[in-house]
Amino acid sequence: MNPIFANLPVTVFEAMSQLARDNDAINLGQGFPDHPGPEDIRQAAADAVLNGYNQYPSMMGLPELRQSIATHYQHWHGLSLDPMSEVMVTSGGTEALTAAILAVVEPGDEVVCFQPVYDSYLPIIRQAGGIPRLVSLKPPHWRLTEEDLRSVFNHKTKAVLFNNPLNPAAVVYPREDLELLAKFCQEFDTIAICDEVWEHVVFEGFKHIPLMSIPGMRDRTIKIGSAGKIFSLTGWKIGFVCAAPPLLRVCAKVHQFLTFTTAPNLQTAVAYGLGKPDEFFEEMTTDLARSRDRLAAGLERIGFPVIKSQGTYFLTVDLSPLGLNETDEAFCKRIVHDYKVAAIPVSAFYEEEKVTSVVRFCFAKKDSTLDTALERLSDAVHRR
Ligand code: GLN
Repeated sequence: MNPIFANLPVTVFEAMSQLARDNDAINLGQGFPDHPGPEDIRQAAADAVLNGYNQYPSMMGLPELRQSIATHYQHWHGLSLDPMSEVMVTSGGTEALTAAILAVVEPGDEVVCFQPVYDSYLPIIRQAGGIPRLVSLKPPHWRLTEEDLRSVFNHKTKAVLFNNPLNPAAVVYPREDLELLAKFCQEFDTIAICDEVWEHVVFEGFKHIPLMSIPGMRDRTIKIGSAGKIFSLTGWKIGFVCAAPPLLRVCAKVHQFLTFTTAPNLQTAVAYGLGKPDEFFEEMTTDLARSRDRLAAGLERIGFPVIKSQGTYFLTVDLSPLGLNETDEAFCKRIVHDYKVAAIPVSAFYEEEKVTSVVRFCFAKKDSTLDTALERLSDAVHRR
């Protein structure tokens, strides 16, 4: 069997969720909310199932959804996208990423990635014959530096994969870092594949800036979004790819053989959702910020050093000052067994130069879920 996949472990999200089930634990590992999601959007999907079209929709996505994606990005980020030639709908962000990587990367191409790296990127790059060149970002700021970029970019750098806001670090990159990355992309004629699925989950004081909007990047960026993240409906698996026509055309050729198309009723509902007023999106981040603060305050009370979350469903804690003498992985195994709370070890997002002291918790949960988890963790900073 193909060693690229045969030798892969089960994803850390699935592994931790399984441990959570086995231990009857509260799952603050895999990132999914524990509320049902916006009722009107779910109602729109239900109506479309009962009364709408249930056959294959167009391969590129329903025209009404592509239009509403373009309108949404124009409104929120000032991006001008032609819905018919620059927007495609996929079955989730992961499919969008796979389509983009397979469309861009040829054998021998180098692809710059940043650790912590989302687990789907590297196997797909390798399957395409690409060679990942990894930059290790460091807590607590996880910022890009000229020196790091200079050490990996060269004339073989076909693409860079950039996740912003960054899961699991919960950083929202400032314009300065984006301009630095853009400078390297232009110097080395590199395509940027931007995983921006967390673009709407950005907290007060921070702003999401799409890399595509940085001067010089419009036509060399493949921007990836996700309705699952935008609407807290993670099981829907509706992703978006936005790119200039010469790039999107090739992504579409891959998409036609990955999934070909995506449930039309869910697409109808997402088209409706993207048009909701600004207050809807603002309320969603306000609610999530409240949950973030609740979990952060509780963890701090227990004694965990919390790194402030700027965006995503996640916050991280740095175990190193606690003197526990165990890795993030050992800590996560211990708390799921002993305290019945699951979290994600951030070292799982590193292939080399691992950071082994940072743990990710998902706060997109009901108050009662967070409170029970905090009660259970009340003496987890000490080893039993
Ligand atoms: N994006 C989710 C997370 O970071 C996981 C998705 C998955 O399980 N594949 O938790």
